Amino acid sequence: MPSVSVTHCQSYDPEEVRDGVRECLDHLGGVKKFASPGDRVLLKPNMLMAAPPERHVTTHPAVIEAVAELFIDTGAEVRVGDSPGGSFRNIEKFWRATGILDVAERLDIELINFEASGSYIMGGEGYPISRPVVDSDTVVNLPKLKTHSMTIFTCAVKNMYGAVPGFRKADYHREHPGPSEFAEKLLEIYLLVNPALTVVDGVVGMEGNGPSGGDPRDLGLLLASEDALALDVYIPLLLGMDPFRVPVNEAARRRNLAPDPSDIEILGFGAEVVDDFRWPSNIYYTLDLLPSGLARALMKLWWSRPAIDPERCRNCNVCVESCPADALKSGALVPEFDYSSCINCLCCMEVCPHRAFYQDKSLLYRLTSLFSGVLK
Ligand code: SF4
Ligand code: SF4
Repeated sequence: MPSVSVTHCQSYDPEEVRDGVRECLDHLGGVKKFASPGDRVLLKPNMLMAAPPERHVTTHPAVIEAVAELFIDTGAEVRVGDSPGGSFRNIEKFWRATGILDVAERLDIELINFEASGSYIMGGEGYPISRPVVDSDTVVNLPKLKTHSMTIFTCAVKNMYGAVPGFRKADYHREHPGPSEFAEKLLEIYLLVNPALTVVDGVVGMEGNGPSGGDPRDLGLLLASEDALALDVYIPLLLGMDPFRVPVNEAARRRNLAPDPSDIEILGFGAEVVDDFRWPSNIYYTLDLLPSGLARALMKLWWSRPAIDPERCRNCNVCVESCPADALKSGALVPEFDYSSCINCLCCMEVCPHRAFYQDKSLLYRLTSLFSGVLK
């Protein structure tokens, strides 16, 4: 029976987070269960973009620091790494903005640049997995609890996508534009990395149209498990939604890998169901349910696609460089879209440092949203 440990943590006060993380891991048997002296432990936070912790787009540095301290106390050698979109240009900018650099300096731990570390080709599909991930004795997954306009929810399993360095991540978006097929890729990469432990930063999560343009939501939760799928099933349930509407959970269920919610043992804090959590208004999941010919026909009239607010855009072109489909080109004032090439992966939206993207919606889309509301 998979276990999920839950602790209540109201703020990012370092003491409170430290106590919360320790308690969370104690329910699972304590940190020493996951590392021995001399082990190489890699912490993999969500470092989606070079945004400050107050934006709640990335794993909060207080959570990373608390987990790092516990592992350092076991005598393990702790490092931190991720491969966020656009980081090939300047990973230091991401480390600095997200507060991770400060943590590393305080604790004297190494920050790893996945883009410069090489990769191993793994699995039947030949996924490139960053060498420091594979070479570590223990991978600790540190996701942020957020909604995602394409995948509905991004947390434990999806955070392992960052184990793939560089542009290949964007290629998978292009090659597998439907949420269900893309979810298969997410699941396969997670299974290859197989982190020993996942600690979720749900102190302040993100609701609405995440993963970067949504709204912060106080949840006051730290959650941990040895089974990332148990977390990805339990958390949507706690937030009032059928967990198998999340494509990656459904992909896991198709392979008999997803735990039945009733089989998940909850340890620690008995959190109450949050029934007003705002999920993204998502078209993609519905399209997955339709025959492909009908879906394509409907897509012409019923669309939601990224657009740029010129008031916010600084024309930095980070989005242009991140587009896997060459659907964005530099423009005089703002980048210009070629929607005929766009695969709606929303990588551009994820990486924009100025929150300049919004979702433009067709009339039919808006009308159907009125009736269907947000996902439940
Ligand atoms: S939309 Fe965002 S990422 Fe793209 S050019 Fe404008 S500010 Fe930069
Ligand atoms: S324009 Fe944005 S949503 Fe469209 S393919 Fe490029 S990165 Fe993806």
